[in-house]
Amino acid sequence: MAMERSSRQQFASDNYSGICPEALDYLWKANSGHESSYGEDPWTRKACDLFRQTFDTDCEVFFVFNGTAGNALSIASLCQSYHSIICHRDAHVETDECGAPEFFSHGAKLLMVEGHNGKIGPEGIENIITKRTDIHYPKPRVVSVTQATELGTVYTQSELLDIHEMAREHSLKLQMDGARFANAIAHLDTTPREITVDVGVDVLCLGGSKNGLAIGEAVIFFDLEAAQEFEYRCKQAGQLAAKMRFIAAQWLGVLESNGWLRYARHANDCAAILEEEIKNIPEVEIMYPREANSVFVKMPEKVIDAVRQKGWAFYTFIGAGGARLMCSWDTSENTIKAFINDLKKSILEVS
Ligand SMILES: *Cc1c(COP(=O)(O)O)cnc(C)c1O
Repeated sequence: MAMERSSRQQFASDNYSGICPEALDYLWKANSGHESSYGEDPWTRKACDLFRQTFDTDCEVFFVFNGTAGNALSIASLCQSYHSIICHRDAHVETDECGAPEFFSHGAKLLMVEGHNGKIGPEGIENIITKRTDIHYPKPRVVSVTQATELGTVYTQSELLDIHEMAREHSLKLQMDGARFANAIAHLDTTPREITVDVGVDVLCLGGSKNGLAIGEAVIFFDLEAAQEFEYRCKQAGQLAAKMRFIAAQWLGVLESNGWLRYARHANDCAAILEEEIKNIPEVEIMYPREANSVFVKMPEKVIDAVRQKGWAFYTFIGAGGARLMCSWDTSENTIKAFINDLKKSILEVS
């Protein structure tokens, strides 16, 4: 018996959405006959080749089940246990991974930098590096940046170049958490290469779940040496999929069709519409520049409660003091309209 249940779209997270047609189509396609397991199949080979084409460079590609594993394992591959990783105070690796980067690197420490609108800059990095240089302090080894950031902003190519310059000066590696990398590309209108290889990124964790896949993130090493034996880390961490073809095939579907960027652009456009609508509501304040697919708003607690009473879900723990409204690959204009209506009603009710 088919399960008949359709629930409304939400703005809580882009991982609330389902699977996009291109990924689903390739899941069906990959589901015929037998194939070799653990990534030794043609789907995985083709997807890896297509990543090399997409980033216009030689790179090593691995697939893991989620972003936490991608970040934690890639960071671990760049450092020793006595090293430290410089990241923004609000970085997912710091706030939302239950200590996985420290755990998988056997004790490497995250050092947090303050930064405007969710971004770190060269000064913040330098301050941390020069604060202590003695043997009693964990030696900085990696800079981790999130693109797009946790606050919905996007690093420009020149900002990334400045970060890389500082990193290079101090022999630091550059890791990029790209859970919403496609949204950043769509916003900047650059090529994937221009904000990775060209700005010295050593390893990128490329998000699939928030971009229309059912599951599966790609860990892309541009520093080929750092990729050595990475498959063992994946296996040991329980991140080596036996039926890897079903992760890889989804990627093939969204890369071949360019769906990954089309959907990211759609999500960004939806956030732009939402932002425009909210700008007309004086009781609600936009908190950060809207660049990717989220809008952060500050509104009275009573309004938040009233909107939730009407069945809407959103996070209030990311970006202190505000509500995060996140658009997805399939967010519809009707959903935006319905939300704005309920928001306006809520404001009237509580005033
Ligand atoms: C969602 C997200 C991740 C990955 O989270 P998982 O739940 O582990 O897949 C990583 N970084 C950022 C910035 C995210 O938003």
